[in-house]
Amino acid sequence: MKPFSKCEQCGDEHHIVLLEHKKENSIVVGFIQCPSCQHKTVCSVTTPHIRSLQKRIRTIRNQYGKAKRAKKAARLIAEYEKVNAQIKILMHPLIDQENNRINQ
Ligand SMILES: [Zn+2]
Repeated sequence: MKPFSKCEQCGDEHHIVLLEHKKENSIVVGFIQCPSCQHKTVCSVTTPHIRSLQKRIRTIRNQYGKAKRAKKAARLIAEYEKVNAQIKILMHPLIDQENNRINQ
């Protein structure tokens, strides 16, 4: 089952359809659009730097799945959290910025 989303603008409930918009400087904006009122909500913004961090996250997950020693697993979790926090810090202002722009 696909996740449902309620539009913050008109209250319409619908399936989430994730769309992507590629901008200049290799910036990719991920957003959902309300089928009823066309209101857009930005969910993610990635730059090449952010995508390289996301790639690192996938590598860590992979290594974690194979880790046999608890010490190594703990180190991977610590790194995962560090990279994840970094992605959030980088992405948050970009999401706010794109959200202000996307419905204009
Ligand atoms: Zn709507």
